[in-house]
Amino acid sequence: MSDADRPTDDGGDEFEPIEVFPEAGETDLRPGADDCYKCSTCDTECPVAEVDDEFPGPKFQGPEQWRLKRQDDRDVDESVMKCSNCMRCDSACPSGVPLSQMHNTARAEYVEENVSKLSREYWRNRMLANYRRLAPLGAAFPRTANFVTGLSATQWLGEKLLGIAGERDFPEFATETFREWWTARGGAHVENPDKRIAYFHGCYSNYNTPEVATALVRVYEHFGYEIMVPEQDCSGTPMFANGMLADARRAAETNVRELAAAIEDGADIVASCSSCSMSLRQEYPELFDLEDTETVAANTWDAVEYLRVHEDLEAELEGTAVGDEFDDFAYHAPCHARNQGLDGQTVELLDHIDGVEAHDVGDSCSGISGTYGWKEENYETSMAIGEEMFDHMDEADAEAGLTECPTCSMQMEHGTGYEITHTLEVLAAALVEGGSSENAPEARAE
Ligand code: SF4
Ligand code: SF4
Repeated sequence: MSDADRPTDDGGDEFEPIEVFPEAGETDLRPGADDCYKCSTCDTECPVAEVDDEFPGPKFQGPEQWRLKRQDDRDVDESVMKCSNCMRCDSACPSGVPLSQMHNTARAEYVEENVSKLSREYWRNRMLANYRRLAPLGAAFPRTANFVTGLSATQWLGEKLLGIAGERDFPEFATETFREWWTARGGAHVENPDKRIAYFHGCYSNYNTPEVATALVRVYEHFGYEIMVPEQDCSGTPMFANGMLADARRAAETNVRELAAAIEDGADIVASCSSCSMSLRQEYPELFDLEDTETVAANTWDAVEYLRVHEDLEAELEGTAVGDEFDDFAYHAPCHARNQGLDGQTVELLDHIDGVEAHDVGDSCSGISGTYGWKEENYETSMAIGEEMFDHMDEADAEAGLTECPTCSMQMEHGTGYEITHTLEVLAAALVEGGSSENAPEARAE
């Protein structure tokens, strides 16, 4: 089945609660704890431990906790729910201890055994983790949904009834989802069996910021790529962070099946969200033994990284320009981009566009970490973690914020008032709208 023939996934699914994966605690990571030599590097990198004295940090959450389990099969400590899943400890460890895998597995075990399925915490976390199931409802009636979620009474009720931080503004739904736009334009405008990518747009670019997804389409078609948009589910990132491994596995089954089929058709996988690419590349192989998980992981790329490797992107950007409305950016590299070694690429690339400046606002965490900063009990910690980034953004005195992570962009906007854009939008402005007419998609299409 071609991607144009595949059914769209908008609005068709009901929110269907299922039991948490019963085998969640079966993964035995205790041997991984032996590689820890207690250097505490991971603890110094943990943004939660830095501002919350009660959080014991990744060394305890990972190797120490698994050692305790080996000695006396102890229960998982409740502090694992305070880990934001930023994964900074994971890449910081010089000894290759599988910290993130340990945290995700322990969190699932904790939720399965210690969190009441009738509790407010469980249902709040279940809703936050399953944004993909709820978003189609909002996207079906975007104006009504935006009006209702924008009311201060809704925010107040969200906090009182569910424990969702009342200080946060709910993200707005787009009046046309990316997949609706894609279908209306008739799918791919470029056919090219030699340069084919399958786009993993994720939930947020589909329901809330389709301008990011359409920018990706314009940029990739500019380079002559045939784009497939396979059926897909949530990447699973918010589910890992909330200990909902059964939900994540169900989503992974859909994603791995569809993306493996696209790879079979000659495509590489690209994602515009750094947490989505992180999930497909690292968390799936760590947590799920599905057929083709490794194939999907090995063929998945960040959308900007892919062009840097496969095209002469820097040369192509040389001499281009963007409109002067936004050409001065305060750039934040998301933790999950940092974890993939991608934290330097945006500032370097944008330097080739005439008149554009991207100020790197440093290596601190934004503090929101997906659903973490949306929880009432984490809001203050989340804002305390983000303070360094907010200060640096203010000092940059730029015209807009820039990042590749949807929830980091929410936190950046919330903490500074900056309008936030995505690197792909800047590339589209330079290469397609601002570039020479020779570079128009039609001229490059085969
Ligand atoms: S994932 Fe982030 S919050 Fe969790 S322990 Fe590691 S560094 Fe700390
Ligand atoms: S960084 Fe790695 S080796 Fe060092 S304490 Fe943390 S888990 Fe152990």
